[in-house]
Amino acid sequence: MSTYDHPTSRLFIGGEWREGGAGTVGDLVNPATEDSLGPVARASASDLDDALTAAGDAFTGWGRTPAIARAGVLTKAAAMLRERSDAIARAMTIEQGKPLSEAALEVALSAETFEWFAGEAIRSHGRTLPARLPGQRQIVINQPLGPVLALAPWNFPMLLPVRKIAAALAAGCTVIAKPAEETPSATAAVAQTLHDAGLPAGALNIVTGVPAEISEHLIASRTIRKVSFTGSTAVGRELSKLAAENAKPSTMELGGHAPAVIFSDVDIDKTVAACVAGKTRNAGQVCTSPTRFIVHESIFDEFVSRFALALSDITVADGLAANVQMGPLANRRRLQAIGELVDDAVSQGAKLVTGGHRIGETGNFFQPTVLADTPTSARAMNEEPFGPIAMVNRFGEIDDALEQSHRLDVGLAAYVFTRSAANAQVMSEELRAGGIGVNSFSVSSIEAPFGGLKDSGHGYEGGSEGLDSYLHHKYVNHIA
Ligand code: NAD
Repeated sequence: MSTYDHPTSRLFIGGEWREGGAGTVGDLVNPATEDSLGPVARASASDLDDALTAAGDAFTGWGRTPAIARAGVLTKAAAMLRERSDAIARAMTIEQGKPLSEAALEVALSAETFEWFAGEAIRSHGRTLPARLPGQRQIVINQPLGPVLALAPWNFPMLLPVRKIAAALAAGCTVIAKPAEETPSATAAVAQTLHDAGLPAGALNIVTGVPAEISEHLIASRTIRKVSFTGSTAVGRELSKLAAENAKPSTMELGGHAPAVIFSDVDIDKTVAACVAGKTRNAGQVCTSPTRFIVHESIFDEFVSRFALALSDITVADGLAANVQMGPLANRRRLQAIGELVDDAVSQGAKLVTGGHRIGETGNFFQPTVLADTPTSARAMNEEPFGPIAMVNRFGEIDDALEQSHRLDVGLAAYVFTRSAANAQVMSEELRAGGIGVNSFSVSSIEAPFGGLKDSGHGYEGGSEGLDSYLHHKYVNHIA
């Protein structure tokens, strides 16, 4: 019998933990074992009002706290997160399914994010403009926008909320954060850690419950000055509407459907290894996950067979298992959705080269899957699959590769694999996506801006742009 005690889901408001005023909503479930991990706290309207009051009150102090002091709290929190990493990562794997090594890496990247934004806080300065008149001072002062609503999904339960929380706090904003109801423990750990590092009560509040209830209540409030959401395009559209109705700025990190163009001149061993790692990371539940592999016709057959062979060799198991390479899908919805996407593609003529089926009877395990020559009418070619399925199609000329890449109205990430500097340059210039990986599936680094085009959203996280999205640039015209 297990002695593991999963962290209890609670709300964090005004520096204190409390039960949900409206009771609980649903049950946390371990996606590998289907064991229940306890209920999720459901905020009442009065809890949400308390969170608004706490964030509003705390802003008067935190917004005026010198940047160097804000940076001190964030830096201390980063060190404490690293000390607490083992327990946090374990709880994350048990809730979300990803291999423990990926969860530990996520905690490490979250700590680094706090440190990086701490540095960015003290590098954020205004400017003095040349005076138009004698005795005039024209100054631009950077000031925090105010309390922020941060809404995050379940695929990166710590890093995605932290990108918002760290940047907002660094800028001097206060935050009400709503983690995904399926993965609340990592955000709770962040709240406790920041509290222990000296963050004033109310500067970060955590609520969970019914997402639409929470977002409608909070976005309508005059206290909230900015909305930042990561999740699906469908929900992002609704939240953009709510933000617009209330004349509030928003950052939307939405879905993708990333093409990976593979030229004939690649080192095929290295490229297949990169594709396997890129596709199986977090079981494909990554908004930048490569999805449409567009491979030059001269290496198509070889690529498909080697990619499929390597994927069929991946160890899919409980994220806590010693030799695991890919965990279960995070929830039952995904398991069903992936099965349906594969069946639909095959029924429309795609060739199932490997995988395509659920593994076992317990847990949300799905085989890494390769579909070859999938017609563009198949749902998987149009909807973000968010799972371990790769569609491999062929191209002849570079224009054909670009046309296939641009067929969908999304633009989060795109990849190109080639040893030709000329191909790399043309594709980097021409591909319309927020981030381009050349011989790499990494397009997200804390020091670089990350954001999508078209249906993939608007605004940036990361980089100096990430801090800027929580700042107001105030112009002061001072005549002596
Ligand atoms: P979803 O968009 O329904 O949920 C994502 C997050 O948004 C969750 O935390 C959810 O609680 C929250 N949410 C949902 N409705 C909300 C509302 N009205 N107000 C505030 N928050 C709300 O996605 P899902 O069902 O969990 O997954 C479906 C698809 O979403 C996936 O297949 C994938 O395409 C996409 N997705 C994308 C990302 C990403 O990082 N871009 C992350 C998760 C899911």
